[in-house]
Amino acid sequence: MWAGQERLKDKFTRLFQQQATVFAMGFWDNGSWTWSFQWRRTILPREEEIIQEFLSFLHQVTLVEGRIDKWIWKAAEEGSYTVKSAFEVMQDLELEEPIPVFLELWKGAAPSNVLAFGWRVFWGRVQTKVNLQRRGIITNGENTSCAFCQETEESLNHLLLLCPFSHQVWSLCHRWLGVLTALPDCVSVHFLQFGNDFRTLKQQGLMKTVWLAIA
Ligand SMILES: [Zn+2]
Repeated sequence: MWAGQERLKDKFTRLFQQQATVFAMGFWDNGSWTWSFQWRRTILPREEEIIQEFLSFLHQVTLVEGRIDKWIWKAAEEGSYTVKSAFEVMQDLELEEPIPVFLELWKGAAPSNVLAFGWRVFWGRVQTKVNLQRRGIITNGENTSCAFCQETEESLNHLLLLCPFSHQVWSLCHRWLGVLTALPDCVSVHFLQFGNDFRTLKQQGLMKTVWLAIA
Protein backbone atom coordinates (compact mmCIF):
# COMPACT_ATOMS: atom_id res chain seq x y z
CA MET A 1 0.00 0.00 0.00
CA TRP A 2 1.78 3.13 -1.08
CA ALA A 3 -1.11 5.43 -0.20
CA GLY A 4 -3.14 4.95 2.95
CA GLN A 5 -4.04 1.72 4.68
CA GLU A 6 -6.12 0.06 1.97
CA ARG A 7 -5.73 -0.54 -1.72
CA LEU A 8 -6.85 2.30 -3.99
CA LYS A 9 -8.75 -0.37 -5.91
CA ASP A 10 -10.85 -1.05 -2.79
CA LYS A 11 -11.12 2.54 -1.63
CA PHE A 12 -12.24 3.89 -5.02
CA THR A 13 -13.86 0.83 -6.56
CA ARG A 14 -15.81 2.78 -9.20
CA LEU A 15 -12.67 4.33 -10.64
CA PHE A 16 -10.63 1.15 -10.82
CA GLN A 17 -9.26 0.28 -14.23
CA GLN A 18 -7.04 -2.62 -14.94
CA GLN A 19 -3.46 -2.60 -16.16
CA ALA A 20 -2.75 0.97 -15.23
CA THR A 21 0.57 1.81 -13.67
CA VAL A 22 1.19 4.89 -11.55
CA PHE A 23 3.79 6.01 -14.07
CA ALA A 24 1.24 6.02 -16.92
CA MET A 25 -1.08 8.30 -14.94
CA GLY A 26 1.05 11.41 -14.80
CA PHE A 27 4.42 13.01 -15.54
CA TRP A 28 7.34 14.73 -13.87
CA ASP A 29 7.32 18.47 -14.21
CA ASN A 30 10.51 20.14 -12.92
CA GLY A 31 10.91 17.53 -10.21
CA SER A 32 7.32 17.48 -9.06
CA TRP A 33 4.78 14.84 -10.04
CA THR A 34 1.63 15.92 -11.88
CA TRP A 35 -1.29 13.53 -12.12
CA SER A 36 -2.89 13.20 -15.52
CA PHE A 37 -5.46 10.45 -15.57
CA GLN A 38 -6.55 8.81 -18.79
CA TRP A 39 -9.97 7.38 -18.10
CA ARG A 40 -10.99 4.50 -20.34
CA ARG A 41 -14.63 5.46 -20.38
CA THR A 42 -16.67 8.61 -20.08
CA ILE A 43 -16.91 9.79 -16.51
CA LEU A 44 -20.51 10.19 -15.36
CA PRO A 45 -21.45 13.50 -13.68
CA ARG A 46 -22.14 11.73 -10.39
CA GLU A 47 -18.60 10.31 -10.48
CA GLU A 48 -16.96 13.73 -10.60
CA GLU A 49 -17.20 14.03 -6.86
CA ILE A 50 -15.47 10.68 -6.38
CA ILE A 51 -12.70 11.81 -8.69
CA GLN A 52 -12.23 15.01 -6.68
CA GLU A 53 -12.02 12.96 -3.50
CA PHE A 54 -9.58 10.58 -5.22
CA LEU A 55 -7.32 13.43 -6.34
CA SER A 56 -7.26 15.15 -2.98
CA PHE A 57 -6.45 11.77 -1.42
CA LEU A 58 -3.51 11.29 -3.82
CA HIS A 59 -2.22 14.78 -3.12
CA GLN A 60 -1.47 13.73 0.43
CA VAL A 61 1.29 11.53 -0.98
CA THR A 62 4.49 13.14 -2.15
CA LEU A 63 6.28 11.22 -4.87
CA VAL A 64 10.01 11.83 -5.15
CA GLU A 65 11.67 11.69 -8.55
CA GLY A 66 14.44 9.12 -8.83
CA ARG A 67 13.59 7.31 -5.62
CA ILE A 68 13.43 3.57 -6.25
CA ASP A 69 10.35 1.64 -5.08
CA LYS A 70 10.96 -0.78 -2.26
CA TRP A 71 9.00 -3.05 0.04
CA ILE A 72 8.56 -1.93 3.64
CA TRP A 73 7.18 -4.05 6.47
CA LYS A 74 5.10 -1.43 8.26
CA ALA A 75 4.53 -3.47 11.40
CA ALA A 76 8.15 -3.06 12.52
CA GLU A 77 9.75 0.30 13.23
CA GLU A 78 12.84 -0.46 11.16
CA GLY A 79 10.65 -1.41 8.19
CA SER A 80 11.99 -4.91 7.89
CA TYR A 81 10.16 -8.12 8.68
CA THR A 82 10.53 -9.81 12.06
CA VAL A 83 8.65 -12.85 13.34
CA LYS A 84 7.82 -10.98 16.54
CA SER A 85 6.16 -8.08 14.71
CA ALA A 86 4.19 -10.49 12.52
CA PHE A 87 3.04 -12.26 15.65
CA GLU A 88 1.92 -8.94 17.16
CA VAL A 89 -0.07 -8.12 14.03
CA MET A 90 -1.76 -11.52 14.09
CA GLN A 91 -2.43 -11.25 17.77
CA ASP A 92 -4.17 -7.91 17.25
CA LEU A 93 -6.24 -9.43 14.48
CA GLU A 94 -7.32 -12.62 16.17
CA LEU A 95 -7.20 -12.14 19.90
CA GLU A 96 -8.23 -9.58 22.44
CA GLU A 97 -6.16 -11.01 25.30
CA PRO A 98 -2.55 -12.05 24.82
CA ILE A 99 -2.01 -15.76 25.34
CA PRO A 100 0.50 -16.41 28.16
CA VAL A 101 2.40 -19.02 26.18
CA PHE A 102 3.26 -16.46 23.47
CA LEU A 103 4.27 -13.83 26.01
CA GLU A 104 6.68 -16.37 27.46
CA LEU A 105 7.84 -17.44 24.02
CA TRP A 106 9.12 -13.97 23.10
CA LYS A 107 11.05 -13.79 26.36
CA GLY A 108 13.13 -16.72 25.18
CA ALA A 109 16.40 -15.57 23.67
CA ALA A 110 16.52 -17.69 20.53
CA PRO A 111 17.16 -17.16 16.81
CA SER A 112 14.08 -16.07 14.87
CA ASN A 113 13.70 -19.41 13.10
CA VAL A 114 13.56 -21.16 16.48
CA LEU A 115 10.98 -18.68 17.78
CA ALA A 116 9.00 -19.24 14.58
CA PHE A 117 9.09 -22.97 15.26
CA GLY A 118 7.82 -22.33 18.80
CA TRP A 119 5.07 -20.19 17.36
CA ARG A 120 3.98 -22.99 15.04
CA VAL A 121 4.10 -25.45 17.93
CA PHE A 122 1.73 -23.38 20.09
CA TRP A 123 -0.63 -22.68 17.20
CA GLY A 124 -0.62 -26.41 16.42
CA ARG A 125 0.76 -25.73 12.94
CA VAL A 126 3.73 -28.11 12.93
CA GLN A 127 3.58 -30.47 9.97
CA THR A 128 3.06 -33.67 11.88
CA LYS A 129 1.52 -36.57 10.00
CA VAL A 130 -1.83 -35.95 11.72
CA ASN A 131 -1.78 -32.31 10.54
CA LEU A 132 -0.72 -33.31 7.03
CA GLN A 133 -3.64 -35.72 6.86
CA ARG A 134 -6.05 -33.07 8.11
CA ARG A 135 -4.90 -30.79 5.30
CA GLY A 136 -5.27 -33.55 2.71
CA ILE A 137 -1.53 -33.80 1.98
CA ILE A 138 -1.44 -37.35 3.32
CA THR A 139 -4.47 -39.30 2.14
CA ASN A 140 -6.61 -41.46 4.39
CA GLY A 141 -5.14 -44.92 4.61
CA GLU A 142 -1.55 -43.69 4.41
CA ASN A 143 0.67 -44.39 7.37
CA THR A 144 0.33 -41.66 10.00
CA SER A 145 2.21 -43.44 12.76
CA CYS A 146 4.98 -41.70 14.66
CA ALA A 147 8.36 -41.54 12.94
CA PHE A 148 10.11 -42.57 16.17
CA CYS A 149 8.05 -45.37 17.69
CA GLN A 150 5.78 -46.37 14.77
CA GLU A 151 3.12 -47.23 17.34
CA THR A 152 0.90 -44.21 17.84
CA GLU A 153 -0.50 -41.52 15.54
CA GLU A 154 2.00 -38.74 15.02
CA SER A 155 0.16 -35.88 16.71
CA LEU A 156 2.05 -32.83 17.96
CA ASN A 157 1.78 -33.75 21.64
CA HIS A 158 2.85 -37.29 20.88
CA LEU A 159 5.79 -36.30 18.70
CA LEU A 160 7.20 -33.67 21.04
CA LEU A 161 6.29 -35.08 24.45
CA LEU A 162 4.53 -38.42 24.76
CA CYS A 163 6.45 -40.66 22.40
CA PRO A 164 8.73 -42.99 24.46
CA PHE A 165 11.70 -41.58 22.54
CA SER A 166 10.78 -37.92 23.20
CA HIS A 167 9.82 -38.71 26.78
CA GLN A 168 13.26 -40.13 27.36
CA VAL A 169 14.89 -36.99 25.93
CA TRP A 170 12.88 -34.77 28.30
CA SER A 171 13.61 -37.04 31.27
CA LEU A 172 17.33 -36.93 30.58
CA CYS A 173 17.24 -33.16 30.25
CA HIS A 174 15.31 -32.84 33.50
CA ARG A 175 17.89 -34.98 35.21
CA TRP A 176 20.69 -32.89 33.72
CA LEU A 177 19.01 -29.70 34.98
CA GLY A 178 18.40 -31.26 38.37
CA VAL A 179 14.62 -30.88 38.34
CA LEU A 180 12.13 -33.48 39.41
CA THR A 181 8.72 -32.77 37.97
CA ALA A 182 5.76 -34.40 36.28
CA LEU A 183 5.75 -34.04 32.50
CA PRO A 184 2.50 -32.41 31.29
CA ASP A 185 1.09 -33.99 28.14
CA CYS A 186 0.22 -30.72 26.38
CA VAL A 187 2.97 -28.69 24.69
CA SER A 188 1.78 -25.28 25.95
CA VAL A 189 1.46 -26.40 29.57
CA HIS A 190 4.75 -28.25 29.31
CA PHE A 191 6.47 -25.10 28.04
CA LEU A 192 4.86 -22.81 30.62
CA GLN A 193 5.86 -25.06 33.51
CA PHE A 194 9.34 -25.77 32.27
CA GLY A 195 11.95 -24.14 34.48
CA ASN A 196 9.44 -22.60 36.88
CA ASP A 197 11.28 -24.25 39.77
CA PHE A 198 14.18 -21.93 39.18
CA ARG A 199 14.28 -19.01 41.52
CA THR A 200 15.06 -15.96 39.43
CA LEU A 201 13.07 -14.67 36.46
CA LYS A 202 16.29 -14.58 34.47
CA GLN A 203 16.83 -18.30 35.07
CA GLN A 204 13.21 -19.05 34.23
CA GLY A 205 13.53 -17.08 30.97
CA LEU A 206 16.69 -18.98 30.13
CA MET A 207 14.82 -22.24 30.64
CA LYS A 208 12.32 -21.23 27.94
CA THR A 209 15.24 -21.02 25.55
CA VAL A 210 16.41 -24.45 26.72
CA TRP A 211 12.89 -25.83 26.12
CA LEU A 212 12.90 -24.54 22.55
CA ALA A 213 16.34 -26.02 21.97
CA ILE A 214 15.21 -29.42 23.24
CA ALA A 215 11.97 -29.33 21.23
ZN1 LIG B 1 6.15 -42.10 18.91
